[in-house]
Amino acid sequence: MDFKNITVAGGGILGSQIIFQAAFSGFEVSLYDINDTALEAADQRFKSYMEIYKDEVGATQDQVDAAYDRITGFTDLAEAVKNADLVIEAVPESIPVKEKFYRELSKVSPEKTIFATNSSTIPPSQLVGFIDRPEKFTTLHFCTEVWKHNIGEVMMHSGTKREVFDQVVEFAKAMGLVPIPIEKEFPGYVLNALFVPLCVQALRLYVNDISTPELVDKTYMICTEGPFGPFGLMDMIGINTCYSIATMMGEQGDDDMARVAVILKEQFVDKGKVGKQVGEGFYTYPNPAFSKPEFFK
Ligand code: NAD
Repeated sequence: MDFKNITVAGGGILGSQIIFQAAFSGFEVSLYDINDTALEAADQRFKSYMEIYKDEVGATQDQVDAAYDRITGFTDLAEAVKNADLVIEAVPESIPVKEKFYRELSKVSPEKTIFATNSSTIPPSQLVGFIDRPEKFTTLHFCTEVWKHNIGEVMMHSGTKREVFDQVVEFAKAMGLVPIPIEKEFPGYVLNALFVPLCVQALRLYVNDISTPELVDKTYMICTEGPFGPFGLMDMIGINTCYSIATMMGEQGDDDMARVAVILKEQFVDKGKVGKQVGEGFYTYPNPAFSKPEFFK
């Protein structure tokens, strides 16, 4: 694996974490996002990760400063990918948005550049038609709070070249991840094949007035001894991503999820309450109700 320059497209919740983790692991990282406001928002996230890496990873000030200095932001895609060995795509979970992005990316990327999508629910075979180099396309899927939930799911589509897949697996290791190689396409990889049905069922209990977020999470946490339940998990994932998934499922005829999408939009997304990263979602942070002993009384 001889990657040096990594470009990440989209500096939102996951993109910004991928960027900081790659920079912390010694890679030169370019961030591409749509405008200066988005770059500024990503910059604020990097600053918060510097504190988190010191507190939770045991990094020194020099290490986090060096990581920060390895990151450069761009709003011009051609500039951002000029030297890229690998582009990791973390733009919003929407096929039209990704299509537009990949068509443009294909036009401006050097021939050597490998593309990897971080999409949670859109399999690579649905994106490969927008790309000029199917053999150099795979997934590299991260889990939120990448500094501690450090898996990298590398999943082939049927046209991915073995050598490309192996290089991305090696890159995942080099950026401090435990690689989870998946040699056959499967919706949701390993992680979301488990997480999405869990969150969807939790939302069905909620939208049908069978249970509440608190009762669902209490049930789950008591019986699994887990640190959070499905609604706490959705706060971590980001409610905008959950909204996109519910919208897609609603459009495919799932009536519960169509109603969930309306609730998530009106009560959360439109109010900016998109989860843990902004301090509010189903719970308020940094001390959510489920972190307190009274929650379980
Ligand atoms: P987000 O909404 O927080 O961030 C998206 C970012 O992309 C924003 O900064 C936005 O300005 C930018 N953007 C919008 N259009 C763009 C374009 N055309 N080109 C470049 N940038 C553009 O979303 P997120 O949660 O970071 O999710 C991004 C991707 O990562 C999705 O595919 C999602 O499925 C995946 N993912 C998310 C999580 C999670 O826990 N949030 C986990 C794994 C994978």
